[in-house]
Amino acid sequence: RLFNEVQELKGNIRVYCRIRPFLPGQSSKSTTIDYIGENGELLITNPVKQGKDGHRMFKFNKVFAPASSQLEVFADIQPLIRSVLDGFNVCIFAYGQTGSGKTYTMSGPGTSKEDWGVNYRALNDLFNISLGRRNAFLYEVGVQMVEIYNEQVRDLLSNDVPNGLVVPEASLHAVNSTTDVLDLMQIGQSNRAVGSTALNERSSRSHSILTVHVKGMDVKNGSTSRGCLHLIDLAGSERVERSEATGDRLKEAQHINKSLSALGDVIFALAQKNAHVPYRNSKLTQVLQSSLGGQAKTLMFVQINPDVESYAETISTLKFAERVS
Ligand code: ADP
Ligand code: MG
Repeated sequence: RLFNEVQELKGNIRVYCRIRPFLPGQSSKSTTIDYIGENGELLITNPVKQGKDGHRMFKFNKVFAPASSQLEVFADIQPLIRSVLDGFNVCIFAYGQTGSGKTYTMSGPGTSKEDWGVNYRALNDLFNISLGRRNAFLYEVGVQMVEIYNEQVRDLLSNDVPNGLVVPEASLHAVNSTTDVLDLMQIGQSNRAVGSTALNERSSRSHSILTVHVKGMDVKNGSTSRGCLHLIDLAGSERVERSEATGDRLKEAQHINKSLSALGDVIFALAQKNAHVPYRNSKLTQVLQSSLGGQAKTLMFVQINPDVESYAETISTLKFAERVS
C-alpha cells in the first residue's frame, strides 16, 4: 500500500533538486537562486547577466531549499525506502558537480545522528520497522558496497575479488543493526582511499554504490519477498575542458562523461517508456540494470551549488535533470 501511494503520487521516476547553502565565510550575495516555488519550480538567475537572458525556470518534483535539514529530506523519501520491505527495488542517486552536496545528502558531513544522510537513516529506519513487525515477518538484511572507477567495479568490502565484477558477485555482508552498517561503511570508505592521493579526489571521480538487500518472510505462511535499495553517490558531473586535462585525468573525465550520459539515456528511455533501454553502454547502468525499470523506483537528487561561479555547471546539471524528469 505504501508503494501504491508513492506510485500514484509520482510515478516510477522522481527528480528532486537540493540546493546547498553557502558555506561559512562565503558571501551569499552572489547567489544564482532567484525563486523556489512550492510545487518544484526553480528560477535560476545569473546576477552577472542583465535582462531576460539571465533567467531560466526549471521544474522538479520537489526543490529542497538551502535551509532544508537532513531530517526533512529523509521524511520525504521514507515511504519509498520502506517499500523495499515489501519487495520493491529502489535506486536513489545523487547527481551534481563536485562540492554541490552529493555526499552530504547521501552520507552526511559526519557520523553524529543529526548529520546522518540518506544511507544511515534508511538503514536505521529499515531495522526499526522490521523489529516492529517481527511477530509477523522475519527480515534478513545484507549489504554490499562497490565503487566504479574508470569503468571498473571494485568491491569495497573485500580485497579478494578481482576487478570487473558485477554487483551480484560482490561480497554480501549480513547486518543486524545500524551499528553493523556504520562499521561496514567505515571499512568501505577506508578501502576507497587505497591507492589514491586524496580520498576527496578519488571519491569525486568514482561512483559509489551501497546496496541493501532485504529478504522478508511471512511467519504465518512462509512466503518470502526480496527487495533491494541502491544508494548511489555519483562521480562529479563537472565538465573537464579537453585542453586542461591530459593523461589519466582525461581518461577519468571521459569515463565519467560516458557513464553519466549512459545513466541519463537509461532514465530518459524509462521515463519515455521506450521499448529499448540502453543499459549496456556503461558499467554503472549494467550493474543497476535489474533495479532500474520495471517495477523499480528511481529517485534522483540533483545537487546545486548556489554560487554564481558555478552558474554554468548549475545550468548544465539542471539541463541533465530536465531531460530525465
Ligand atoms: P560533493 O559530494 O558533491 O562533492 P559535499 O557533500 O562534499 O559535495 O559538499 C561540499 C561541502 O558543502 C561540504 O563541506 C559539505 O559539508 C557542505 N554541504 C553540502 N551540502 C550541505 C548542506 N545541505 N548543508 C550544509 N553544508 C552542506
Ligand atoms: Mg562527494
